[in-house]
Amino acid sequence: MNISIIGAGYVGLVTGACLANLGNRVILVDVDREKIESVKRGRSQIYEPGLDEILRATPVEATHDLAYAVENTSISFICVGTPTNAPEDPIDLEAIKELIREMGETLNSHHLVVVKSTVPPGTTENVLLPLLGSNGRRAGRDFSICVNPEFLREGSAMKDFLHPDRIIIGEAKGGDGDILAKLYQDFGCPILRCDLRTAEMIKYASNAFLATKISFINEIGNICKMLGIDAYKVAEGMGYDERINSKFLNAGLGFGGSCLPKDLKALIAKSRGIGYEPRILEETLKLNEEQPLRMIALLKRHLPSLKDRRIGILGLAFKPNTDDVRESGAIKVVKALLAEGAMVTAYDPKALDNFRKLFPGIEYTAAEEVLKCEAILILVEWDEFNHLDYRGKVVIDGRRITKAKEAIIYEGVCW
Ligand code: NAD
Repeated sequence: MNISIIGAGYVGLVTGACLANLGNRVILVDVDREKIESVKRGRSQIYEPGLDEILRATPVEATHDLAYAVENTSISFICVGTPTNAPEDPIDLEAIKELIREMGETLNSHHLVVVKSTVPPGTTENVLLPLLGSNGRRAGRDFSICVNPEFLREGSAMKDFLHPDRIIIGEAKGGDGDILAKLYQDFGCPILRCDLRTAEMIKYASNAFLATKISFINEIGNICKMLGIDAYKVAEGMGYDERINSKFLNAGLGFGGSCLPKDLKALIAKSRGIGYEPRILEETLKLNEEQPLRMIALLKRHLPSLKDRRIGILGLAFKPNTDDVRESGAIKVVKALLAEGAMVTAYDPKALDNFRKLFPGIEYTAAEEVLKCEAILILVEWDEFNHLDYRGKVVIDGRRITKAKEAIIYEGVCW
């Protein structure tokens, strides 16, 4: 199939590279010229395991020319960002609206527009479809629109894209998603077809559930810590129950990244907007905001004043195997440390450059140098942190790094 992918970020680049590797002709489009140039050289600007290899093996056409991409393909996957700006503005749909408007101008034969970006229930039907259908263009005759939410996780994005648990196809009317179903027919997973707003809601409900599971186990972990119980043993015992399952039961620092916090905030706002107060979702978010600060409280048990103390941070990304620092727990921890007057020295295998843009004033160095600080906070479970020498150190661990238990003073956030 001839496919354009609009937005070459974490989702778009992975989608494009994988669909090209499966034998489709793919044209990637982005407004960011550096990203485009880098794809043309067979390199990804983001760090995602396996992505550079697949881009080298299957060169993907890349351009900033939207009209060229749309004219030369029959399907466009919309993968632009839908970020949060502020609590009162939980989702910014400007990029996607502007793009859809522009796409509308370029359509001159029937085209399938597939919304992969995460948008609140009702957005495609009430906002995007009318924009695409302005100037006399008719849904069905000139274009069709589907919602195909993405569930990949950064750090294992290629595997998640190619081997999903399910594929959701939301369609305005039966038959609109037939081409998509054909595209995915060999993916070997259930394909659920539903209407547009149901597909959008499935994405939000899934992320809200995962976020709630994390905040739930963190709450259990906080109670366990106070009772002198190991939260990981508790989670292991719970996880054998098939109704619960062991995934997303790792108590610790909480969730971050570009999706869970943002999608939770957007769903909360959407619910409030229709007059429903979503209490579980609100508490999930609140617990998650507070969880990283427990690291500071634990640290202060051992260093009551942090003023002018040199504190080391291991891990800045929002999780291992990514360079993405959006809503990373490290942001809250570093802010809190600086507010207490501490001096911060930090290391991350992949996210140093991205974190430096947010906090240019702290010291960035190698892991061994971080270990020389007066106390060390572990914020990400990068594999290499299990191979450091923690003997004689003061360590507050937010991610259950087994080797760190050899420290002279060791505190786990929930154990
Ligand atoms: P991202 O910020 O990494 O990438 C978005 C890209 O879109 C950027 O490269 C940007 O330059 C480009 N862009 C913006 N406006 C454009 C335009 N008019 N034309 C062409 N390109 C444009 O975002 P992401 O993390 O890939 O997320 C994309 C969407 O997918 C979001 O809605 C997100 O919620 C959703 N999602 C993300 C993940 C994830 O793990 N990152 C997983 C599932 C779903």
